[in-house]
Amino acid sequence: MRQLLLLIFVFFASQWLFKKLKRAQAAAGAQAGPQGAGATRASHGPAASRSAPQLPDPLVRCAECGVHTPKSEAIVAAGHRFCCTDHAQRYAAHPTGRDAR
Ligand SMILES: [Zn+2]
Repeated sequence: MRQLLLLIFVFFASQWLFKKLKRAQAAAGAQAGPQGAGATRASHGPAASRSAPQLPDPLVRCAECGVHTPKSEAIVAAGHRFCCTDHAQRYAAHPTGRDAR
């Protein structure tokens, strides 16, 4: 009978200890959390996309037709971005178009 009482006591003691340990781990995790996330993120994204961290694929405007295209799908030619190669060629055909400065 005494052993049973001891067992119950050990059970409650271990529960209390577990609670305390969990709280300590949560505090430690909150400190190490942002650093760990930054390390995993740095290996993925290029430095160019730092201006818009919320959007993984920002939209860029086509210099020919003005349509907004995802940056990964946009065609870059002569410093301008286009929605397709056809527009890039068409823009090159008339160099000083509406975008002339
Ligand atoms: Zn276009």
